[in-house]
Amino acid sequence: MASGGGNNRNGTHRNSLKGTTTTSAASTDKPLSVNSNPSKPAFKNKSSPLTGASSGLRKSSPGSLGGGAAKDDAGVPGRVRVAVRLRPRNAEESVADADFADCVELQPELKRLKLRKNNWDTDTYEFDEVLTEFASQKRVYEVAAKPVVEGVLDGYNGTIMAYGQTGTGKTYTLGRLGEEDTANRGIMVRAMEDILAEVSPEIDSVLVSYLQLYMESLQDLLDPTNDNISIVEEPKSGDVSLPGATLVEIRDQQSFLELLRLGEAHRHAANTKLNTESSRSHALLMVHVKRTVKGREPAHSSDNGNSTSMARSLRPPLVRKGKLVVVDLAGSERIDKSGSDGHTREEAKSINLSLSALGKCINALAENSAHVPVRDSKLTRLLRDSFGGTARTSLVITVGPSPRHRGETASTIMFGQRAMKVENMLKLKEEFDYKSLARRLDIQLDKLIMEHERKQKAFEVEIERITAEAQNRISEAERNYADAVEKERLKYQKDYMESIKKLEEKWMMNQQNQGNERKEQMVHIAEEVAEVKKLLSKETSLRKAAEEEVDNLKSQLAQLKMSEALANSEILKLQKMVEDEVCQKEKLEGEISMLQSQLLHLSFEADETRKRLDRGGPGKVPGGLDSPVSQVRSQLKDSGNGEKASVAKLFEQVGLQKILSLLEAEDADVRIHAVKVVANLAAEGCCMFSGFSHLVESNFSMSGIFNPT
Ligand code: ADP
Ligand code: MG
Repeated sequence: MASGGGNNRNGTHRNSLKGTTTTSAASTDKPLSVNSNPSKPAFKNKSSPLTGASSGLRKSSPGSLGGGAAKDDAGVPGRVRVAVRLRPRNAEESVADADFADCVELQPELKRLKLRKNNWDTDTYEFDEVLTEFASQKRVYEVAAKPVVEGVLDGYNGTIMAYGQTGTGKTYTLGRLGEEDTANRGIMVRAMEDILAEVSPEIDSVLVSYLQLYMESLQDLLDPTNDNISIVEEPKSGDVSLPGATLVEIRDQQSFLELLRLGEAHRHAANTKLNTESSRSHALLMVHVKRTVKGREPAHSSDNGNSTSMARSLRPPLVRKGKLVVVDLAGSERIDKSGSDGHTREEAKSINLSLSALGKCINALAENSAHVPVRDSKLTRLLRDSFGGTARTSLVITVGPSPRHRGETASTIMFGQRAMKVENMLKLKEEFDYKSLARRLDIQLDKLIMEHERKQKAFEVEIERITAEAQNRISEAERNYADAVEKERLKYQKDYMESIKKLEEKWMMNQQNQGNERKEQMVHIAEEVAEVKKLLSKETSLRKAAEEEVDNLKSQLAQLKMSEALANSEILKLQKMVEDEVCQKEKLEGEISMLQSQLLHLSFEADETRKRLDRGGPGKVPGGLDSPVSQVRSQLKDSGNGEKASVAKLFEQVGLQKILSLLEAEDADVRIHAVKVVANLAAEGCCMFSGFSHLVESNFSMSGIFNPT
């Protein structure tokens, strides 16, 4: 535990620890190095069965007091350090043992203790630190306690425990307040001084509980009414907590001293009540140190930007929680079970229970036993992290010099020797402090709410102001508007009245003009009406006449229609007749063409005849042109008394044209014959000559030669 002071002392140096976290928070990168420097194996003389045994490094077994916590991750090996302190002879011993040598002899430079067995034989034991009767309280603190306290400040659990027979100086070592002489201050006071010197009151906290364990009952020395405090073990971390214990925050040394005094007073009162001595009970001081890791707390005024500020303010601070347990154990001497010292057998059993359970656990741990009976007593449950757990543990065994108590002293030494073999795995108790973050955020939230409310208030005031201003403006605008409207209305009314007046005047003028014009128009209209009437009557009469005419025409039309019908039938008849005539005409034309050809032939013959006659004698008919005539004559002679065929034949032979041309012949006789032929032809009723006879008739009448009779 201690190596004689200076930098080389056996306890780990403050800044030479390296640990791992036991929390789920991200592990922190500690610049600390391991220097657990386990002590040399306990040295024993040749008679000791443990001679040469090496404490070595020991891993926490599942059954260790701190097994639960050690399971998470391997910590740094940290063997339990043991110092032995010898109390100087007191007045009584100086008298009683005046003729006897002390039962122990210390060799502090060799860290050895020699226990006198008899005048010629001693057992030698080596400890981490050997503190003589001249060792000052300061030195004891520095070698036995300070490394543990520093570990606590760095976030490790720590235990400082005093074990020894009643009256050997446990309370003197641990609990002396040093009121009469500050040099006498014990470990508790000095530890608190160091702690308070290190923490920052604004961001760190130091909370203290002070308890007494007597007959397996845990009493609150800061609140005597709280006399049965239960122990709660957290299954995951293996941490032990006492939710029922009073926790007092310590801000200065004076208040801590007050608290220790109060606790001592309550302890005395409780022991008087229980009719026992303080030596029969265990006193436990628990100091919870929570420190915020520097450099991880949120920056305040020096923030550069809002986002950085926000990110930082939302990052939970990293805190280290170290718990220092200072245990002033009950006297290690066995309570007499015979009841000779006033205790019943059951009481003696109960009083001894915790201490003997602690011894058993330490034995088990020292021997690396599979089973460590942690749960056998409240003390072992409370100290499960101190032996085989994650705490840095320092044990001070106190011995007296008197040979009369040699047995107890030997027992104490053996306890210390076994405790030296217990290896803890130190673990840093570091975590993100979400509660503090929540608190900080709450504060920020409150500030923001206040700010918001302030702004809201200002905003409301501003709104009210703007509203009032707006109202004023609106009413002013309304007034202006009303005025303007009224003005406009008056103007328009005036304009309207003027317009009306003008219109009335115009109307009056128009009325006058219209009167004259109307008279003229009336005369004109009357004239026009008279004229129109005249025209109308004329038109009426004309219309009447027209109507009569129409009626007339209608009757005429009816007559015409009738005559048209008659005419149509007549026309049909005539058409029929015309068709017949056409047919006849075609026939006659055929006959005429035949007659013409005959006539031509006859003419030719006549011409021939005449020529012959001219050449031959008079008996002959004078020729030339008479040839047709003679032909006609002969024909007529041949025909006798009117044979139809002869005339027709003649007509056919001579031809109509020839006959007609004879009608105009110079020879009257010829003309007469021709007329006769034609007349005969007509008389024969030749249809072709029915119309033609008229022509001949007229021709002859004109010529005066024709007489049908
Ligand atoms: P314990 O608590 O072990 O029963 P105490 O601490 O009460 O023993 O000590 C018993 C007596 O011895 C006390 O009067 C105390 O002042 C005295 N004493 C103990 N250790 C020393 C020491 N190292 N130097 C001087 N006096 C001591
Ligand atoms: Mg005591």
